[in-house]
Amino acid sequence: MTVKEWTRQVVKQDEIDKYLDRGKDFIDEEEIARELQRQQHPAASRVRDILQKSLEIKTLTPAETAALLNVDDPALLEEMETTALAVKRKVYDNRVVFFAPLYLSNLCVNNCLYCGFREDNKEEKRHVLSMDEVARETEAVIDEGHKRVIAVYGEHPRSHVDYMVDSLAAIYSIKRATPSGRGFNNIRRVNVNAAPMEVADLRKLWRAGIGTYQVFQETYHRGRYAELHAPTTLKGHYRWRLYAVHRAMEAGVEDVAIGALFGLYDWRFEVMGLLRHARDLERCFGVGPHTVSFPRLQPALGAPASARSPFLVSDEHARRLVTVIRLAIPCSGLIVTARERPETRRELIRLGCTQTDASTRLGIGAYAKGLKQEENADKVQFTLGDQRGLDEVARELANDGMITSFCTAGYRCGRTGERIMTMLEKGAERKFCKLNAVLTFREFLDDYASPATRLVGERLVEQEMKEIEADGFFAGKGLLPLFRSYYDRIKNGERDLYM
Ligand code: SAM
Ligand code: SF4
Repeated sequence: MTVKEWTRQVVKQDEIDKYLDRGKDFIDEEEIARELQRQQHPAASRVRDILQKSLEIKTLTPAETAALLNVDDPALLEEMETTALAVKRKVYDNRVVFFAPLYLSNLCVNNCLYCGFREDNKEEKRHVLSMDEVARETEAVIDEGHKRVIAVYGEHPRSHVDYMVDSLAAIYSIKRATPSGRGFNNIRRVNVNAAPMEVADLRKLWRAGIGTYQVFQETYHRGRYAELHAPTTLKGHYRWRLYAVHRAMEAGVEDVAIGALFGLYDWRFEVMGLLRHARDLERCFGVGPHTVSFPRLQPALGAPASARSPFLVSDEHARRLVTVIRLAIPCSGLIVTARERPETRRELIRLGCTQTDASTRLGIGAYAKGLKQEENADKVQFTLGDQRGLDEVARELANDGMITSFCTAGYRCGRTGERIMTMLEKGAERKFCKLNAVLTFREFLDDYASPATRLVGERLVEQEMKEIEADGFFAGKGLLPLFRSYYDRIKNGERDLYM
């Protein structure tokens, strides 16, 4: 089959139509515009009622979200930020989960005007990692101290589902001795960011042990979407993408992730799109997205729309959009990436983000070769704002009282999908995560941390241990003896023990 023939048979119309509600999808642009208009200048008392609902860990309605998006009063904005942090603490406590993006291929049949991988960018050097190269990349990522990756693929028959399945197996197969000489390290969860697929293919990914399946809609605005993604390309099919993670849920992948590329269209509109997306997943499957992403557009070589979009989002608006998403979709994790500069990332984590990356390298094969982006400009998708290593970012967070977690237990213990969301809502998952955060941070401190990070890390662990010992939940469930024994065994060199 030629690439053109392959492209023509990807979209399955019946796998879109079945989700439509009387022929309509869940993005009603006129209704979004009307709602944003109707909710202008919300009264302070109404805003406080909405904040109360967020604190009860309930997904907000479009009207409530629009009201929050329209708040301009500095004092009320501050209340919203304080509440966003309280919501984060209630659901996720003080932990931040770390991952590394692993770019496996930059061949792409699409032509997204903002992306360095687009087919027409002739400056980009194309490469699809062989399985040996995937193994070398994985080794290099593990040696940074990571235990969780997101595998990223361009859309092309050479890197389609069978290649993904093989690469997941290759990544999971690697075990490395740790630098301390004690125990081993490995990747325990592989998430995937890849183009929309049909249910049968998604089922293959599920069988291969995928963690989260992530697809960003880029922009929820149809007109803007059509300007940026030629309708003749696969990605030009707006609805095929809109229902990508619905199909994943249908295929059995319980943790799905959504996102919008902020800077392509009006940021308030995109937040309303994300909210509607989350609510439609709840409607269809009883559970919303595992995570929500809000990457901001970065400059990319050979990608004309990356530099001169009229909708670029300021730092001030980035703060506001994170605050509103945290309040509107309180159960979902929020991901901030190394696209952001260090100080912005720190700020956005403080406001409610729960996952981030570090030691990030975007070039295909760049971890194994130790290439920084300046040395690899012809194989990257966009430019990073923060190239700091895991040790440094973990130290900064520890200094801010936040614990770096590599926990992957939820998914391996069946705490996924609806089950995990109900536990998050009730504050129970947070408890298990606290234990696993301490266990995995202990591994990191012993195996990879610099003396400076160990110093602040040990203080944090001590504090966490005190909180755990004092918390009636753990004693009531009889979890303390097991936790203490796992902690001691990890200190003695055993690895990958989780609750
Ligand atoms: N080809 C797959 C797809 O389009 O779904 C994989 C995704 S792509 C390699 C990962 C994500 O990077 C895209 O969904 C897009 O949101 C983001 N991205 C692309 N160009 C970007 C840029 N210039 N700045 C920031 N993020 C960008
Ligand atoms: Fe290809 Fe994805 Fe980049 Fe679009 S965003 S050009 S589909 S890799």
